[in-house]
Amino acid sequence: MSLQPTSSQNSTRSGLPRRPKPPSTQDTAFFWEQANRHQLVIQRCCGCSTLRHPPMPVCPRCHSFDWDFVPSPGKGVLFSFTTVHAPLVESFDRPYGVGIVELDEKTRLVAVLQDGPTPWRIGMRVKVDFFDCEGGFALPVICPEVA
Ligand code: ZN
Repeated sequence: MSLQPTSSQNSTRSGLPRRPKPPSTQDTAFFWEQANRHQLVIQRCCGCSTLRHPPMPVCPRCHSFDWDFVPSPGKGVLFSFTTVHAPLVESFDRPYGVGIVELDEKTRLVAVLQDGPTPWRIGMRVKVDFFDCEGGFALPVICPEVA
């Protein structure tokens, strides 16, 4: 599913929201490349199979440098959230929500909350989706899980 920005998001002439492009390093490039395909992935250690996020070069459990990644359905629970009233980045309309999802795989992900009238509650079921941004990249967004 591809989300369209809502009226309160900062849209541009292209109709896509303008957002800062996330920095990509050799450790995180795979995550953002998959995000651009609207696919959530989680880094996995090839030594002990531990999943980890955010991506990092070394497994904190077995210290292996070998890793790959696995797709995730992006489903989990809202671990925490907040409302940002004074963003440091001009391209965000305010206020906007930011949350932490604890995925069913037990890794956590920080992302913006889907704009709209959702009554967010800690522990509620949510799903990670993606929205396209001006500049040709996509970012994750937390949405209520629809049964
Ligand atoms: Zn490991």
